[in-house]
Amino acid sequence: MVVSLQEGADTDAVKRQLAARGQWIDAVERDARGAILLVLAPHSAAVAVAELRQIPGVAGVSAPASPHPKVSAQGPVVEVAGVRFGGPELVLLSGPCSVESEEQIFSLARRLSSMGVSFLRGGAFKPRTSPYAFQGHGEVALGWMRHAANAHGLRVVTEVLREADAPVVAEHADLLQIGSRNMQNFELLKAVGRTQRPALLKRGASATIQEWLLAAEYLLTHGASGVILCERGIRGFDPSTRNLLDLGAVALLARVYQLPVVVDPSHGTGRRDLILPLSLAAQAVGAAGVMIETHEDPGCALSDGPQALLPEELREVLSALAKARR
Ligand code: PEP
Ligand code: MN
Repeated sequence: MVVSLQEGADTDAVKRQLAARGQWIDAVERDARGAILLVLAPHSAAVAVAELRQIPGVAGVSAPASPHPKVSAQGPVVEVAGVRFGGPELVLLSGPCSVESEEQIFSLARRLSSMGVSFLRGGAFKPRTSPYAFQGHGEVALGWMRHAANAHGLRVVTEVLREADAPVVAEHADLLQIGSRNMQNFELLKAVGRTQRPALLKRGASATIQEWLLAAEYLLTHGASGVILCERGIRGFDPSTRNLLDLGAVALLARVYQLPVVVDPSHGTGRRDLILPLSLAAQAVGAAGVMIETHEDPGCALSDGPQALLPEELREVLSALAKARR
């Protein structure tokens, strides 16, 4: 936002009034007629334009139009197959990193459904950093997942890796996941949008919030029925955690921008010993849901075993979350 001052206004007094309202000043400029302009920084607190206009000495306030109008208009709740993200209930999404076999996904679906999990997660198409790592079983795994979910009253969330796969994933899944590595794969975003289904958009490892919201805008403008954001950790400098889980971004998006955000502490930290505290923290800052990787035998998992919780460990996390809500 840009605040323009009246001629002869006391600039320092206006700056103090702005600071008192949580406003940071990025630059002081002059317009063509010589009026002083105070350019507010993006990390300033949200405040109504009308409130700033009332400050003595302020001539006008210009707020740029939202660069992502559809995201701004979406609202805090997105319903997916009868489950409300952003409603009073925390939505639980869990399952293996990769769908490894029909038996695996049926067995896990049965256990997860008994714990109040709503969405079965699992990758059929896996984006892997190494070309030699397990890439997923593909389309057949979509069918296993759908049947396992149906058999146990769960919904399905799974990743779409390629544009060409968007229709088949949309046939099997309730919620289409865009992985972190593809957050700015604009053709993929358009293809997922065209399915007219809801999407779970994971944050790119070095994406700003603005870039993330513009990616969400791609989905909505190309037809997605709703977008849920997923914070899964950004690239930090410290290898003690696999990624740097940005809960400040979650608080900002959930509480100030009023958007549904799911937190993924599994990829966010890579450490199963941090899933419980970070799930509680996610809930405290306003997350609409948590996505946690689980596996019945993490030592034998085909991907991300070290961060997977056993089903009984997940049960403990879920009961701590429920207790903290009371
Ligand atoms: C996943 O959730 O399966 C996954 C691959 O995560 P990300 O895209 O966040 O790395
Ligand atoms: Mn994983």
